[in-house]
Amino acid sequence: MRKKVWRIDGSGANATDGQVVWSPAKSIWNLAMFVCAIVLAPIYFSWAAFLFFLIFTYISMLLGHSLGMHRRLIHRSYECSKPLEYFLVWLGALVGMAGPFGILKIHDLRDWAQRQEKCHDFFAHRRGLLMDAFWQLNCVFKFSAPPAFKIEDDFANDKFYIFLEKTWELQQALFGIFLFWIGGMPLLVWGVFVRVAVSVSSHWIVTYYAHNPGLGNWKVHGAAVQASNLSRIALLTHGECWHNNHHAFPESAKMGLDEGQLDVGWIVLRWLEKLGWVWNLGLPRDSLKREDLNFEVDFLLK
Ligand SMILES: [Zn+2]
Ligand SMILES: [Zn+2]
Repeated sequence: MRKKVWRIDGSGANATDGQVVWSPAKSIWNLAMFVCAIVLAPIYFSWAAFLFFLIFTYISMLLGHSLGMHRRLIHRSYECSKPLEYFLVWLGALVGMAGPFGILKIHDLRDWAQRQEKCHDFFAHRRGLLMDAFWQLNCVFKFSAPPAFKIEDDFANDKFYIFLEKTWELQQALFGIFLFWIGGMPLLVWGVFVRVAVSVSSHWIVTYYAHNPGLGNWKVHGAAVQASNLSRIALLTHGECWHNNHHAFPESAKMGLDEGQLDVGWIVLRWLEKLGWVWNLGLPRDSLKREDLNFEVDFLLK
């Protein structure tokens, strides 16, 4: 039986009051990746480096971010051996967004705020694209009355995750040195700067549209933000685009629930299950336990 995790205690907290403040560490990291990518990518273009960029971006987002960070670390929606979990989460840290604890905090705070009756525009992605890009890629939210956030002991005390949290930027640098050693400047530029810039910005834009009005079947009662299914980008997002399903059933390792909803992450999990590498794959809870949800076929969520 999967363990249910509640990392947020929202008693006394408020999801609307607070300020968006510039985060130097986040902003400088992201800007450095973007500037290096834009300036250096044309100078150091090679087809081999470009191909590596395409393949490694897809694999690290699929295995690292979607399966490692999101479906395993954040939601514990399936189980696997520790070595496999470590590898997937390490790959997720290499995507270049945050370390394991940082990702847990970003995800859980946003998810908690969106499930309140009202929440700040920062969490709802209610502003225009440019403003939201500036906020999400350069800033953090300082609550007037923050919720308590506590990571469960088995992750919080895990020596590998403590190490990875402290060194995720350094790991990227070491990976860059390794790429430079085997493929020179083209592989370094396309394998680190362009890949991180593209991964971070594409993750942001999918998050933006997935939390703005769109189509979906499930409405979460009392939630300020209803997530949308973005059906055209299933292949590109490894199935993470079925975000309306995900908000309704966060316990499910399967995100593409209906016929024709392609979910590459789920397909890979089923392969791994056949190999005996993952088990206890979560599916949506049964209909008797859905009192928090309304079902209506493809209505426009606001
Ligand atoms: Zn999630
Ligand atoms: Zn969401």
